[in-house]
Amino acid sequence: MLPYGRQTITEQDIAAVVAALRSDHLTQGPLVAEFERRFAARVGAKHAVAVNNATAALHLALKVAGIGPGDRVVTSPNTFLASANCAAYVGATPDFADIDPVSYTINPHALEKNWLDDTRAVVAVDFAGQTANLPEVSRIARARGAIVIEDACHAVGGSFHAEGRVWNVGGNPWADLAVFSFHPVKTLTTGEGGMLVTDRADWAEQARRLRSHGIERVADNFTEFTTEPGPWLYEMQELGFNYRLTDLQCALGLSQLDRLEAVLTRRREIVAAYNAAFAGTDWLRTPGLRTAADAATTSWHLYTVQIDFAALGRSRSQVMSALREAGVGTQVHYIPVHLQPWYRRTFGYGPGKCPAAEAYYQRALSLPLFPAMTDADVALVIDTVLSLSPIPSR
Ligand SMILES: *Cc1c(COP(=O)(O)O)cnc(C)c1O
Repeated sequence: MLPYGRQTITEQDIAAVVAALRSDHLTQGPLVAEFERRFAARVGAKHAVAVNNATAALHLALKVAGIGPGDRVVTSPNTFLASANCAAYVGATPDFADIDPVSYTINPHALEKNWLDDTRAVVAVDFAGQTANLPEVSRIARARGAIVIEDACHAVGGSFHAEGRVWNVGGNPWADLAVFSFHPVKTLTTGEGGMLVTDRADWAEQARRLRSHGIERVADNFTEFTTEPGPWLYEMQELGFNYRLTDLQCALGLSQLDRLEAVLTRRREIVAAYNAAFAGTDWLRTPGLRTAADAATTSWHLYTVQIDFAALGRSRSQVMSALREAGVGTQVHYIPVHLQPWYRRTFGYGPGKCPAAEAYYQRALSLPLFPAMTDADVALVIDTVLSLSPIPSR
């Protein structure tokens, strides 16, 4: 059975984790800082802070930006829950702006049209790997005193074209902070894990403190315990968390980072093969790119198509089970977050708030995409999907 996504673990990855197990540190050893340094260099950000998952990274991003009660945080409804939940964690109001029908990322026009004065942050999600329209989102947000957090959980190692050149996901002038996930279905994994990147030293420093209980160990900064300074001293100046990533996980992350370019290339090859095979199918729409040149630079996490189930004469669950019988796993990304029961009950959101995301959801289906797929696996997916055609389309 081909799942819609899965991790790839090599012998090199295993050896790297075993070496970490034999070292003096299981957690908070030298590999955390090394992973942060190499990750920051790869994405072109000044600072990277490793944490135990991307949900924690989103929480810390809002904390260091000073977002809290009375503030509104707008994100895309076409995302995983965490992009919105983080706002509620800090006591702010999560809200949603509809998606653009080509890239399925937040639509800058919807963002601008529905802007409310209490909005202090926009969480722009790079859906499936395609970058949100960051220049436009940032123009709208910054003109109104709000910051931009790039939820780059889908897009590790990607880059995009804007203003006549190529920019990195997480290392561009429009996102004030960016977060990445290293969950096993994502493109680079540490089991569980996440990274927060920013060019602001003060935010990185605070995030590093908050990930470990708000503890400060630098003697120069002590305010209370100054009578007898010593190596045992630590001070807690603010309420933090245990959001640490371990050395074991960073060993895996470093090893995965070594192969990232090959992984991105293979993912692009599979996407190109799917796009070519499905181009003439009238009941299936392949993923649209806002900028055609991004085909060569996008870090594809998902291959999500739009299927006209009515034209096909089968419901989505019928299509999913027909594909499953042939060994092809699929998934739906995403149920619009504003339609989740908790969001309806807590904020009064409901159908009609984001019509484009709701229409998109009715037709969404993600096909298998992971770098260990063989050409035969790709051909199996293509043939099985095309065999659903009421009239054979080739
Ligand atoms: C996976 C994901 C997250 C959460 O990542 P975790 O590491 O599982 O906490 C947040 N946002 C998006 C868009 C994701 O896909």
